[in-house]
Amino acid sequence: MTSPLKDRALSSAPTALFIAGRWMAAEDGATFAVEDPATGETLAQVPDGGPREAVLAMDAAQAAQSDWAHTPPRRRSEILTEAWRRVLAAEEELAALMTLEMGKALEESRGEVRYAAEFLRWFAEEAVRIDGRHSLAPDGSSRLITQRQPVGVCVLVTPWNFPLAMGTRKIGPALAAGCAMVIKPAAQTPLSMLALARIFQEAGLPDGVLNVVTGERAGEIVTACLDHPAARKISFTGSTAVGRLLARQAGERLLRMSMELGGDNPFLVFADADLDAAVDGAMLAKMRNIGEACTAANRFLVHKSLASAFAEKMAARMGALSVGHGLSGAQVGPLIDAKARDRVAKLVDDAVAAGARVLVGANRPEGPGYFYSPTVLTDVAADLPALKTEIFGPVAPIQAFETDEEAITLANDSELGLTAYAYTRDLKRGHLLVDRLNVGMVGLNRGLVSNPAAPFGGVKASGMGREGGREGIDEYLSVKYASIAL
Ligand code: NAP
Repeated sequence: MTSPLKDRALSSAPTALFIAGRWMAAEDGATFAVEDPATGETLAQVPDGGPREAVLAMDAAQAAQSDWAHTPPRRRSEILTEAWRRVLAAEEELAALMTLEMGKALEESRGEVRYAAEFLRWFAEEAVRIDGRHSLAPDGSSRLITQRQPVGVCVLVTPWNFPLAMGTRKIGPALAAGCAMVIKPAAQTPLSMLALARIFQEAGLPDGVLNVVTGERAGEIVTACLDHPAARKISFTGSTAVGRLLARQAGERLLRMSMELGGDNPFLVFADADLDAAVDGAMLAKMRNIGEACTAANRFLVHKSLASAFAEKMAARMGALSVGHGLSGAQVGPLIDAKARDRVAKLVDDAVAAGARVLVGANRPEGPGYFYSPTVLTDVAADLPALKTEIFGPVAPIQAFETDEEAITLANDSELGLTAYAYTRDLKRGHLLVDRLNVGMVGLNRGLVSNPAAPFGGVKASGMGREGGREGIDEYLSVKYASIAL
């Protein structure tokens, strides 16, 4: 595909490592290809950094740490504000870049640019509100003063599904708190992060405060960062499997950690729900980001009195979505790669082989590209992977329940606990659900929970720590206490 917007988007992203304020190649000159998942076309060659480049980047962050920590909060805030303005000014190019390297529809990418920018504005506002406490010891012998200080150099590892927002959700609070950092973006979507790094450079961020190492050897890059003596914290967003691995490594080094991991999010519809509103919410919760969101509704649990009406309405809405290249106006783009598409297809095929009913979809449109058609399934056997694993694609399995107790038990029957959605018009039931659903976030009569002003994060194997909200900056601060003799 050729278009002026595509050319503008690709030229907005440097194809170099960003270390100590300089754009550079990997030491051995190695590169890897970034691909458009809708066409298989190579979009750019990007440096294939490794442990050597990771150490250089950590050295740069270490050198910048003290000055950045002592930069007045107002100045840190101003740089974040300037970056916020510049991200919004570049909305069209950044959105097209994300669509090209990740696949989502252009309109969704525009939404992600605005969402990503908002973390910068939010944390620009938080940078000047880092405070402490002042109290008298109970025995009256001393004054107790607490202050909060930046934790130090952070290692930030981000996934491909929200290439920009998962970056700003970490970079915003880290910069606001006074931390320098090394970022390792996902190999499939490095261009958005490189474009963002250039925006920070242009916004006046001092050299070395933010460094980006791209590369295909994620394990080696991140291990070299974590083994560096300056490392104080890791913030990771990605799969639970990799999160576990990194938590072990970080534990060995006694680093602070934030882990934003997978979701297996139930979407509950009770008998008294507004059915049309529930379907609207379900479409948003399922199809945002082609279903490739950690917050995506993974299992639909619908009261038996509404189950078939809900399934029919969902099938009509899912079947009406246009599938195609995100820059061509299509509503549903490709999955990220062939492996992801084949995984989704297998979950569906196995469910169908075991007796599930297909209301719509369940096929792979003709290539090129890794497309999978929006799919609705009913009668899925309860123990099948389609109901037990994170689908990460445009597939909606629907199960019926009879009692509230059964719905809550099914909803909580997961190793993961990120998000749950529930539709009911009963206020008391709504509050009980918020109490009893074992997750970090609940969408009550809403199909979207993400908000830069709110603490995003999970419980159980969905991770630890919170991003966004007032809590988001705490992850990058440590408390120091001084005892002052009276
Ligand atoms: P992933 O495979 O875990 O990759 C995430 C990041 O970790 C990428 O930068 C990846 O680099 C890197 N990585 C992979 N293996 C590594 C290793 N051995 N050591 C160090 N780093 C390593 O996850 P993904 O497939 O990109 O993302 C999808 C997952 O992220 C889903 O499970 C989703 O639920 C989760 N997610 C969670 C949230 C949340 O906030 N809770 C938000 C978005 C996504 P490479 O790309 O180079 O492999």
